[in-house]
Amino acid sequence: VCAISPKAIVSDACASYSTLDSLNRDLQPSLNEITQTTDFFAYYRLNLFGKECPFWNDQNSMCGNIACAVNTLDNEEDIPKVWRAEELGKLEGPKADHPSRRVQKERGPKRPLQGMLGDNVGESCVVEYDDECDDRDYCVPDDEGAGGKGDYVSLVDNPERFTGYAGEGAGHVWDAIYRENCFSKASFPKSAYLGSSIFPKKGPAANELQSVMREHERQILNTPSATGLEEEDECLEKRVFYRVVSGMHTSISTHLCWEYLNQTTGEWGPNLQCYKDRLHQFPDRVSNLYFNYALVLRAVTKLGPFLKDYTFCSGDPVQDAATKAKVQALTSKAAAAPQIFDESLMFVNGEGPSLKEDFRNRFRNVSRIMDCVGCDKCRLWGKLQTAGYGAALKVLFELDNDSQDVPALHRTELVALFNTLARISSSLEAIHHFRTMVEAQETEA
Ligand code: FAD
Repeated sequence: VCAISPKAIVSDACASYSTLDSLNRDLQPSLNEITQTTDFFAYYRLNLFGKECPFWNDQNSMCGNIACAVNTLDNEEDIPKVWRAEELGKLEGPKADHPSRRVQKERGPKRPLQGMLGDNVGESCVVEYDDECDDRDYCVPDDEGAGGKGDYVSLVDNPERFTGYAGEGAGHVWDAIYRENCFSKASFPKSAYLGSSIFPKKGPAANELQSVMREHERQILNTPSATGLEEEDECLEKRVFYRVVSGMHTSISTHLCWEYLNQTTGEWGPNLQCYKDRLHQFPDRVSNLYFNYALVLRAVTKLGPFLKDYTFCSGDPVQDAATKAKVQALTSKAAAAPQIFDESLMFVNGEGPSLKEDFRNRFRNVSRIMDCVGCDKCRLWGKLQTAGYGAALKVLFELDNDSQDVPALHRTELVALFNTLARISSSLEAIHHFRTMVEAQETEA
């Protein structure tokens, strides 16, 4: 087994970028089939509008208004309305409401248990029943707090791409996400992140905590060692947390650079300078994307056997069987490849075991922070991807193949998991093209 331990960097000799690139080339057609052509995986349920940002109430950062969404563009007024951030960030296509609990009850009893994936999945077609949460979840359920369970949104109609969302609002969200990487319990009391709020909003305690967090932020984001991630005194789990978040950030940046809107000509296409500025000169960011590919693919592969008895219900049995065949094609191909991520190394040594709950709570907070993203489409993909990584972590660290105590995995989590893998996969492909473009440019020069 050629394992990329979470400690090793992905470019280690045994599993180089090219190994993962070629695996990606093999798997991508199946993955695209699953996410682009099946109803089961194309509709995602989420509460996109009903939840308030639980962490701050600064209007500028909330970005419900256009002002913070367009900070990078000095003269948005001068471009056609359809190219403005507010328009680009809007959702396209029809949305379906999630039925209330009363309506669910009227629809009658649920079907019998479906495999080991939980008793509410597979039986309810694309519309799923409301479920109880599991302590082992890495993401918060979308009905946490007020606001109901949300809508079904077509992912195919709303591709992740450039929206113009930037400036203070977006920066504030990324800062808050990276602050979750501060694992030092001594200076970051548990009570500060376990509740609905990351920190007290007012008073001396809030000021003190914020200054501690700023110090952490300075250490983590602005010092050279933070980007290298090779510090031996940083525990493995903390590095993995950082890599997951940074790899997700890399994927989002890749998509917005790959499908970029030239706001002068109105044409969509790759923006090489965008890629160079954000990614090409930061190999660690790209390495974290490869790391995430290895991690999420491992989760999907591990889940494969459990999906054999699963009904991918869309309301049309022929399509359901076709969806299952597509999923099996992907997971068996993935299972035939060497295992490249070894989750058994995590949460075992040193303070590892005691960090698991901490890790899970911090990841839940990242998913809560997504409600602070001030652009609808960005929030959609931000929520989906954190839910996808959350599902991957749950499969890797909470699902033990030998145990009967299998945590429930809901349809929403499956949809998020496969679409997150598809996002990483298309990012790897885009980066491959960007690299070729850079090489061509350098040859010309
Ligand atoms: P940002 O990308 O905002 O980065 C902020 C800082 O984080 C950087 O200065 C750097 O220090 C650090 N950093 C950057 N990348 C990494 C990395 N990979 N790893 C570690 N550190 C890093 N915009 C769109 O056009 N379309 C979208 O779909 C979209 N989705 C978004 C989803 C979320 C959840 C968020 C928070 C923002 C989203 N945005 C989207 C906005 C986009 O991510 C950027 O914030 C925006 O383009 C401004 O970029 P920037 O150059 O200021 O740096």
